[in-house]
Amino acid sequence: MKYDKNSLKAEEFINDEEINETVRYANEHKDDLELIDKILEKAKKRKGLDHRDASVLLACTDGSRIRKIYDLAEQIKKDFYGNRIVLFAPLYLSNYCVNGCLYCPYHIKNKNIPRKKLTQEEVAKEVIALQDMGHKRLAIEAGEDPVNNPIKYILECIDTIYSIKHKNGAIRRVNVNIAATTVDDYRKLKDAGIGTYILFQETYNKTEYERLHPTGPKHDYAWHTEAMDRAMDGGIDDVGIGVLFGLDNYSYEFAGLLMHAEHLEAVHGVGPHTISVPRVKRADDIDPDDFDNSLDDEMFCRIAACIRIAVPYTGMIISTRETPEVREKIIRLGVSQISGGSRTSVGGYCEEERPHDTEQFDVSDNRTLDEVVNWLMRAGYIPSFCTACYREGRTGDRFMELCKSGQIQNCCHPNALMTLKEFLLDYASEDTVRLGDEVIEREIGNIPSSKVQDIVRDRLARITEGDRDFRF
Ligand code: SF4
Ligand code: SF4
Repeated sequence: MKYDKNSLKAEEFINDEEINETVRYANEHKDDLELIDKILEKAKKRKGLDHRDASVLLACTDGSRIRKIYDLAEQIKKDFYGNRIVLFAPLYLSNYCVNGCLYCPYHIKNKNIPRKKLTQEEVAKEVIALQDMGHKRLAIEAGEDPVNNPIKYILECIDTIYSIKHKNGAIRRVNVNIAATTVDDYRKLKDAGIGTYILFQETYNKTEYERLHPTGPKHDYAWHTEAMDRAMDGGIDDVGIGVLFGLDNYSYEFAGLLMHAEHLEAVHGVGPHTISVPRVKRADDIDPDDFDNSLDDEMFCRIAACIRIAVPYTGMIISTRETPEVREKIIRLGVSQISGGSRTSVGGYCEEERPHDTEQFDVSDNRTLDEVVNWLMRAGYIPSFCTACYREGRTGDRFMELCKSGQIQNCCHPNALMTLKEFLLDYASEDTVRLGDEVIEREIGNIPSSKVQDIVRDRLARITEGDRDFRF
């Protein structure tokens, strides 16, 4: 197999030999300060880096250069995303699954875990609970099971979610994280009005992949790895990729992740909309110590910084798998979206008594959404509930064009302020309201155009009077 980013064959665009070559090259040059400085200069142009150059930065051992990598990642994040952080929550629909993934408690052989699938009434209750927290953006999750979770069920759930309007609440964007499927199914998801289709590769190493997925349809490496191409053929413009760090060597995964991004850009003209950086976590029947590739917080943060530099215009997501301390550090280095107030169990937002029974992983950040919003503002960020882009048709290359030119901030920033105001009025605690109003007042002054400032002031006044859902 020969490396070819334009190929549609998994083993050619994620080519094992090319990844091993890249990791070898990065290790050989990890102390090559001249080369590292050259790569940093290139990165400062904010056009991204290819997987080879980015891998050299990841391998770098020189303290002063590592600081430069962090500083540059922070600067790029500010330039492209400003200080807004978009919030979302996962919604687990069903934990029935026919796959045998060794790192996930939903694997078919786990007989300890209760199996549960939400009815449409239960979906509606979960959505109301999520709306009552203040969420506007969800990522739905379901195991792979053609009998229990067919595409028809997923589509019904999406319909239910969008149909619920409780008090001032509304879910305005549903992202979907379900198993690799057919072009036809992806088209149906597109027609149902989904935001991003998310599918983690878990590991790019084919041998490891097949070992970790011993049974079930997910065992097929090519079917899984080529899923994003089918999703894009089905009309889904925005796709989210990610690996489960800890399953295989992080340098290998990092190169594979960037090669996947390069492939999507080369073939479809648009790279991934988001990259997620989950790490293997403890769960029922799962002990992270069983995976000997776990990586420490320092390297985890470095990976985030190098992703930020390599693909400046791709959103980066971190979940409540991580502790507040790690989240704080990594957000600064490039994360643009985080989950908050999450439950990772089926029906977990309503079932207060036993919400942990069906959890996919232990949540390390157990704060409420209000607490997360409050914390973000104290750390200097604007918590945002914005969902404007796909509703305004800014998806795929239209989105990327705005993002690459740095123009998207002109939408993100005012939208963050207006959606934060909605949250303050409808869901926030007293202290969060006080703090939030100060943040809004301060941040209006940071909108470059005085005309836009006036529009935002006018809309904020109308939101206070009861109007909702303004957007740029
Ligand atoms: S990771 Fe997904 S496919 Fe694998 S067992 Fe868990 S729910 Fe099923
Ligand atoms: S304007 Fe678009 S990119 Fe910016 S926060 Fe809203 S949805 Fe995201």
